[in-house]
Amino acid sequence: MWYRDFIDFVRSIYGNDFIPLHRPVFDDSEKNNLVECIDSNFVSSVGYGVKRFEDNIAKFTGHKFAVATVNGTSALHIALHITGVQQGDEVITQALTFVATANAISYCSAKPIFIDVDIDTLGMSPKALSEWLSKNTIQKNGLCINKTTGSIIKACVPMHTFGLPCRANEISKICKKFNLKLIEDTAESLGSFIKHKHTGTHGDIATFSFNGNKIITTGGGGMIVTNNKKTAEVAKHLTTTAKIDHPYEFNHDQVGYNYRMPNINAVLGLSQMKKLNHFLSIKKDLANYYHNFFSSKKNVKFVNPVAESDSNFWLNAILLPDIKHRDDFLKETNDRNIMTRPIWTPLNKLPMFKECECGPLATTSYLEERIVNIPSSVPSMNWSSCE
Ligand SMILES: *Cc1c(COP(=O)(O)O)cnc(C)c1O
Repeated sequence: MWYRDFIDFVRSIYGNDFIPLHRPVFDDSEKNNLVECIDSNFVSSVGYGVKRFEDNIAKFTGHKFAVATVNGTSALHIALHITGVQQGDEVITQALTFVATANAISYCSAKPIFIDVDIDTLGMSPKALSEWLSKNTIQKNGLCINKTTGSIIKACVPMHTFGLPCRANEISKICKKFNLKLIEDTAESLGSFIKHKHTGTHGDIATFSFNGNKIITTGGGGMIVTNNKKTAEVAKHLTTTAKIDHPYEFNHDQVGYNYRMPNINAVLGLSQMKKLNHFLSIKKDLANYYHNFFSSKKNVKFVNPVAESDSNFWLNAILLPDIKHRDDFLKETNDRNIMTRPIWTPLNKLPMFKECECGPLATTSYLEERIVNIPSSVPSMNWSSCE
């Protein structure tokens, strides 16, 4: 059985200790930034780091504006809020995503609608989206109305799964046709491109996460990116308690949120951004190495990005022939201290979302039983060359 070969192969990359799925990489650069931040006393919501980190992300992803937040979920919440998603509205997303995508929709007192994914991108299927919208909605006064519930469908939130770009160009066209705002959940796809355009630039707003397991981390953190100045201004206002700017007076013009990224987190991000291009190139090599390993194995396929798109290879994934092989593989590897895990339980199966509307989910169900993530950390090396 090739499982044993796989275990030897992974150990040859990562060594003999416990191998996590994805660990962060730090060096003296992060430590020095943290010491400097502490010495400055500005560890919280004021300090030089936040603005600089925002500028870094905006520049890297090709957006005009970026607003840092305390995590990726809060970034999604505010992105939906600004888009006008409110009580009674509906928002389309994919069934196969991390729970945060649908939680953020619920924070707006709106309901998610779950659509199928594509078998190759693992992200939202434009075909499934378009078919569902054609069958279930009518367009009235520039609004997309759900024929069954009578509710307004305000937005569509596709996700670029594990860094593999979904078909955002097609999805963008469909959203325009059906009067939907497009918010890309790019939490997993910093450094992933479609025809050399960064993921998250195909719609109105995109949101990143810098949680400890993502490709770069600020400990916890998120970012709202957009090309719309007004959207960026409202995002900043809402994430900073809706305080009216004044040197000493405290006035607030609406219920805002304390969703700021602390400076101590932002300075970590500054060091991490210096390493991002190196992470990307090493992860690409690692993915190639895995691809070659699996190409000689029967019954298993390494998941690559589709044509004309570049993945950041945040989490590498393999497709196994059936649930029995999947469960055997998970047990063999985890028993030997190599962390592997199945893809998420589709969100329509979770207790809080099981009443939600769904399209046909054949591909979601197929992938649910077969996709497994394998260790994907950037292997140890001397990072001083990145400075
Ligand atoms: C990580 C992640 C988020 C949310 O990020 P947090 O920073 O953990 O709140 C949202 N969506 C997806 C798809 C994610 O993977």
